[in-house]
Order: sequence, then structure tokens, then C-alpha cells
Amino acid sequence: MHSRRRFLQLGSLGLGTLPFLSFKGNTSAVRKPIVISTWDAGIAANKAAWEVLRKGGRALDAVEAGVMVTESSQNCCVGLGANPDREGIVTLDACIMDEFANCGSVAALERIKHPISVARRVMEKTPHVMLVGQGAQQFALAEGFPLEESKLSDDAQKNYTEWLKKSEYKPVINIENRKEHGPFAPSRFDNGEWNHDTIGMVALDANGNLSGSCTTSGMAFKMRGRLGDSPIIGAGLFVDNEVGAATATGQGEDVIRIAGSHTVVELMRQGLSPEQACKKAVERIIRIKGAKAKDIQVGFIAINKRGEYGGYCIQKGFNYAVCYADDKNLLVDGKYIL
Ligand code: ASP
Repeated sequence: MHSRRRFLQLGSLGLGTLPFLSFKGNTSAVRKPIVISTWDAGIAANKAAWEVLRKGGRALDAVEAGVMVTESSQNCCVGLGANPDREGIVTLDACIMDEFANCGSVAALERIKHPISVARRVMEKTPHVMLVGQGAQQFALAEGFPLEESKLSDDAQKNYTEWLKKSEYKPVINIENRKEHGPFAPSRFDNGEWNHDTIGMVALDANGNLSGSCTTSGMAFKMRGRLGDSPIIGAGLFVDNEVGAATATGQGEDVIRIAGSHTVVELMRQGLSPEQACKKAVERIIRIKGAKAKDIQVGFIAINKRGEYGGYCIQKGFNYAVCYADDKNLLVDGKYIL
């Protein structure tokens, strides 16, 4: 991901302004459409999603189009340009969920550029929810997705070569505000420690329907076959059209432990705001991890049916992008606990 700004950034989308209902706390007004997504790559992704939403399009189409932007970009941790596993192979995980609780997922998918679109096909064209590995690739090819080269991107090759010097397997996720990292750019990945990020996106469309998407290469230099939370419905992503939608980023193992995104949605069902729900889920992880919580990062973001949004993370450094008007695409620093 690019620089991690610690301030609210206004990003103009360069489009005419559409009217939207003003939204004040717990009034009855609903802010829609709205789309939010993890990290600063979410600004560009939201922009593509907003193109769909502003025309009255479906949230499902928006969240697919949005994260495809990140999958196409050179990114440390999303898409085929991302860092590989410890065998030097890029494996991708993605899932998608719509307003009818339809969902689809692919995991450990190789050489396919848009895992999110394959996940959508799994949802729409198969009786299953998840396809993994070779079977997922076989399905993608049968659906007409092209097989891409297996060559690593230049950045990923450089990072992998560097990592191989020690070949240390570090399942511990980096903490963004550690001084040694500095602002991230793929070419600056020189210490083998910047090892995660995911784009998770949730949207509420003009019709008041919710959908979400999540796509990642998972943890860099992971064990071959390792899956995190991102392709798992209920962990990396969950949508309940009666309540809200949530998605996660960070150390997937610990998101799975608490069925993270599902937990956030259930907490919203109990009446918590998106921010409060994300906070409670983060607190649960911290309680489970005890002293080790300081070594990991997990962030959740969520929206509810009223278009309220929020995010929370374990520690400083996480941000997310929020778009709800032509000229409102904001980068928001996640509140943190430790
Ligand atoms: N959640 C992803 C995983 O564990 C990684 C991340 O979001 O940083 O695979």
C-alpha cells in the first residue's frame, strides 16, 4: 500500500455532486449509497465502486468492481503482483456476499487475475460456496478466465529474494507504526517484514441493500496451503441485509478464532453502532491473545442499514476509506485500543 497518512484525506472524485440525505447520529435519515474499504488502497477502490453506486447500481456490482481495481494494481498483498508464499508462489483468496446471503469464495487460487470475480461465479454458478486450489483454478478456466503467467512481479521478486536470505517464517503480522517500516511502497519492502494487507469492502446501495467483498494474497511468505480469514464467510466478511456488513484485515488466524466479521454484524444486531461493534470484536481478540496482542494487528470495518459506518483496530496504523458522495472519498484513521 502507499503512504499511510495519519490524517483525514479528502479525495475528490471529479464528478458532479449528487444529493444525499444528511445523516446525524441516530436520526431516522439513512446515508446511502455508501461504500467503505480497508486501507488507503480503498480510496481508488471506492472510486470504482462509487461509479456503480452513484448510478443506482447494485451493491454487489459495486463491491466487485471496487476491489478489482486493487487486484489489478501493483500491491504487496492483493492480486497477482503481490508477495508469494514461502515456496515463491502467489496464491490468492477472495470472497463475496450479497443481500440474499448468497456467497462465494475461492482460496489458494493461482494465476488468475481477479479472484473476486471467480468467487462471484462460484456463488452464482455452482451449488457450492468455496472452491480451493486446483479445483478453483479449473473452474476459473472453464468460466473463461485467462491463465496468467506464474512469474512474480518485480517488487515481489525483490521482496522474496530478500526474504530468502533468512527464510524466517514469521506468522506474526507487522505493526504499521513500527518506526523501521516507514511509509510503505513496494520497492521499500526491504526488511522482509511487511507481510500483510487485504482489501475488504462493504457497501449499501441506493435501494438499501448491502453486499461485501474481500480479496488478498494473505500473509506474505506464508506456509504453502495456509489460508487466512479473507476467503472465509463469517471471518473475513459477513453481510446480513437486515442488519449490516463487516469485513476484516490483519492477522487472519485471530480473526477466524472469533468468527470476526460475523461477530461484528451480530453485535450490530444487538444495537451497537458499527464502531462499537468493531471495538468489541477487537477487544475479544485482545482478551484471547493476552500479552501477545501487542504483536499483532487486526482491524474491522462495518456499516449498518442506516449507512452509519465505523472501524476499530488493535493498534495504531490501520486506516480505511469511506465514500458517500461524488466529492467525499475520505481516508479515516482507525481508532485503536493498545
Ligand atoms: N487477513 C489477511 C490474512 O490473514 C491478511 C491481512 O489482511 O493483512 O490472510
